[in-house]
Amino acid sequence: YQAKEGGGNVAVYDSARDAASTDQLALLAELREALETDDQLVLALQPAVDLATGAPTGVEALIRWRHPRRGWLSPHDFIRPVENSEQLGTFTRYVLDKALSVAAGWARDGLEVPISVNLSARSLLDPRLPGEIADALRRHQVPAHRLVLEITETVVMSELEVIDEVLATLRSMGVQLAVDDFGTGFSSLTFLTRIAVDELKVDRSFVIRMADSPEAAAIVRTTVGLAHELGLRVVAEGVETAEQRMALAELGCGAAQGYHFFKPMPADKIGAVLGQLLDEARPNVFPLRADG
Ligand code: C2E
Ligand code: MG
Ligand code: MG
Ligand code: MG
Repeated sequence: YQAKEGGGNVAVYDSARDAASTDQLALLAELREALETDDQLVLALQPAVDLATGAPTGVEALIRWRHPRRGWLSPHDFIRPVENSEQLGTFTRYVLDKALSVAAGWARDGLEVPISVNLSARSLLDPRLPGEIADALRRHQVPAHRLVLEITETVVMSELEVIDEVLATLRSMGVQLAVDDFGTGFSSLTFLTRIAVDELKVDRSFVIRMADSPEAAAIVRTTVGLAHELGLRVVAEGVETAEQRMALAELGCGAAQGYHFFKPMPADKIGAVLGQLLDEARPNVFPLRADG
C-alpha cells in the first residue's frame, strides 16, 4: 500500500521486487539440491471416480515440496519460477519418473489405473520430451496408455508448431492427453481442433458456481456435451459437496475429482484406497440420469 503514496515510494517497490527475485534465485538453488536428494519433492495423489459406478478412473499426481527450512510448499509457491528456469527439464523428468514408479507399483499389485501428470506448458517446447517419456515408460514397464498428460490451454498461444509436433508424437506413442482447467484458457476450442485429446477436465471455478450461477452451470453442461460429441472423457475438478456430485451426474458428467471424494494423499495410502474403490464399485445398472 505504501507504493500508492507517491513517487518517492517507487524505491520501496523496487527493493521489494529485488528481494522477491533474490528469494526466487535462492529457491531455485534449493530446488537444484532437492532434485538431487530423494525425499524433498513428493507426490500427493488424488483419485478421480466414475460418477455412475464409483470405480476409480484415474489418479492425479500433484507435486509438494517438503522444504527443509520453509516447510511444506505447494506448487503455487514454486512452479512459476521453475517454469522460467533452466531446471524445468530436470524437474519434469523427476515428476514423471516418480509418477511412473508409483504406477509401476500398482501394476505389481494388479491395479491397472492410469496416472495423470501435470505438464508445464513450456516443457512442451522441448522436442526431446517424447523420447524421454518413452524411456521412462520403458524403464518402469508402464504401458503408454496408462499415462495421462494434463496440459492447460494457455500453453498453446505461442510456438504452436513445436508444441503440436511434441503432442502428436506423444499421442502416437499411445500416451493420453487431457486438457486441464478446461474453459479458463483463451483458445480452448481452437485447441481441440488442432490436437486430438482424450479427456477434458472441467475447471473447479465452474463446478463451485454451478448451483447459483446459470452461466457456470451452462458452461459445465456444454463442456459435458462437447466431450460426448467428440468422444472424450470428461472429469469435473474440485467437487466438494454431494449436491455438486449429483448435479454433475445428472448432467451426464462421467467422472469427478475433489475433496468430496478424496483429498490428495501420500503414495503409501493410495494403493489401499484404489483396491477398495475397485472392490466396492457398483455395476452401472441403476443409471443416475433420469433419461438414462
Ligand atoms: P490442477 O492440475 O488443476 O490441480 C488441481 C488442484 O486443485 C490441486 O492443487 C488439488 O490439490 C486441488 N484440489 C483438488 N480437489 C479440490 C477440491 O475439492 N477443492 C479445492 N479447493 N481444491 C482441490 P495443487 O496440488 O495445489 O496444484 C495446483 C496446480 O499446480 C495444479 O492445478 C497444477 O496446475 C500445478 N501442478 C501440480 N503438480 C504439478 C507438477 O508436478 N508439475 C507441474 N508442472 N504443475 C503441477
Ligand atoms: Mg491437473
Ligand atoms: Mg485442473
Ligand atoms: Mg483447476
